[in-house]
Amino acid sequence: MKKEIKKVRVIDTGHLSAAENMALDAAILEARDKNLVPDTIRFLSFKPHCALVGSFQSTDRELRLDYCRKNSIEINRRITGGGALYWSGKDIGWEYFSTGQSFGGCAGYEQYYELFCSAAACGINRFGLNSAFRPRNDIEINGRKISGSGGTSLKNAFMFQGTLLVDLDIDIMLRALRVPVEKLKYSEINSLKDRLTWLSRELGYCPGRGDIINNLTQGFAQYFEIETYKGKLSEEEIKIFNEKLPYFKSSSHIYKITEEKSSGFVYSFHKSEKKVIKCTANVDLKRKILKNVYFTGDFFCYPARAVYDLESSLKNIRIDINKDLPASAGNEGIEKVLSKNIQDRVDSFFDNYGKITGISKNIIKNLLNGAISRLDICRHGVENENINDIYTVCTEFGNKNIIDIFLIPYCAKHPECAYRYRQGCDFCGKCTVGDAIKLAKAYKIRHITITSFEHLMETLEKLKKQNKKYFAGCCCEAFYLKHLNHFEEKGLAGILMNIDNTTCYDLGKEMDAYAGRFEGFTDLKLPLLEKIFKIHNKSAVSP
Ligand code: SF4
Ligand code: SF4
Repeated sequence: MKKEIKKVRVIDTGHLSAAENMALDAAILEARDKNLVPDTIRFLSFKPHCALVGSFQSTDRELRLDYCRKNSIEINRRITGGGALYWSGKDIGWEYFSTGQSFGGCAGYEQYYELFCSAAACGINRFGLNSAFRPRNDIEINGRKISGSGGTSLKNAFMFQGTLLVDLDIDIMLRALRVPVEKLKYSEINSLKDRLTWLSRELGYCPGRGDIINNLTQGFAQYFEIETYKGKLSEEEIKIFNEKLPYFKSSSHIYKITEEKSSGFVYSFHKSEKKVIKCTANVDLKRKILKNVYFTGDFFCYPARAVYDLESSLKNIRIDINKDLPASAGNEGIEKVLSKNIQDRVDSFFDNYGKITGISKNIIKNLLNGAISRLDICRHGVENENINDIYTVCTEFGNKNIIDIFLIPYCAKHPECAYRYRQGCDFCGKCTVGDAIKLAKAYKIRHITITSFEHLMETLEKLKKQNKKYFAGCCCEAFYLKHLNHFEEKGLAGILMNIDNTTCYDLGKEMDAYAGRFEGFTDLKLPLLEKIFKIHNKSAVSP
């Protein structure tokens, strides 16, 4: 019997605003789920240029909002997961709307990445290029990423989408987004341009929008063995779109997830090579209730709504911190920190939900454990307002280690200080470093000014060789997150404290900072420093 060739509608919605494009994604997906429209390939572009966070990301954490506003870069939130993206007016998005039944052979999202990226690559290659799918979700040419992808679902329907970089202004992208630079290791920052590529760079000219869409359409048709036809949005889609648009324009959508600075919030992080998941737990400290929790970051999760469902299953649970919490809880200490009712809720959610890709029961338990065990920090005399200002390396908070050395970031020294990029201090009072050194001396702790990332790594290595057991230091949260794996590789246990003021990450100067050229000025949190020195080194100074 002759195989029936599937007909797929192709729509080019041209250049739309960020809110319009996001609302249209949601509208077509809903219409496809309700079987009001056929399988559809949509091509889209943005005008004005925009920066989009992934659906689980914090807007102010991922984007440099001031820069975006100053440069008329629209800000919005995608309905798909993944990291923040900058879209120039020339970039083209491709989207495929279908149902699970149509792609019934797929075992999960990982296969969808390969399928759709391979199909799009087939279209890109019609320009005579040699692009290919690269796990997990990219299309690359000679190792350089030219397109990323992601997807989401709604009951029976799914949308899989990708960006095709056409004529990227990488400097604008770096300024608008915080994520790409923070994701890169230092040695990779300078070669950022070599890690990405775009059509005009590969071809030596910028092809027309029509040609790109034509080639991509043919690529999908060839790869999926489908027939495509030019279509337009249906009346139902336009109706759903108009209903949804006000929400996608609203602050409650765009700023749905932001950094909350409140003592009621406790944070923890899960970092793997590819992703950072941040857990923000909103805790009623007085009543010891976990009011709600958010999992944010540049991770993918399928089905996409599983994160929201998980969050809503973890609302209003009693926290029961074991007063006999061991000094070092560690992973095996989860039972001791996470109360049984929280563990039961996590277990029952994962046991009953079905297959979830991208997050696991253990990651969630560890994140909750990390966030909630921060409450225990107060028992050591640290103020509520500082409980998120402490980060540990190769250990848990609450150990009794004596601090051997105190690492001072050069950014805390006054920008005009003669000692800014070298050791020393005249205690002139122009910055917090002088007082911090006096505190360290009072607790018999040696100190050293860290003048660059390499210097930090060399110092940790040296200390480890000298058999030092524990360090204290100060740095910003962005630095800790980016370099946690580097700290851990050195294997020296330690405690880091957050710093005040605008950091080099806030100013987009992290590359300067890395090389020891950041000219900004931060403050050390002296009261917190004193508490930590006292907790660890009281016995070292007691007679
Ligand atoms: S207190 Fe020390 S480090 Fe700070 S500006 Fe004065 S001399 Fe420099
Ligand atoms: S990353 Fe920048 S702000 Fe953070 S500690 Fe280093 S120099 Fe200071």
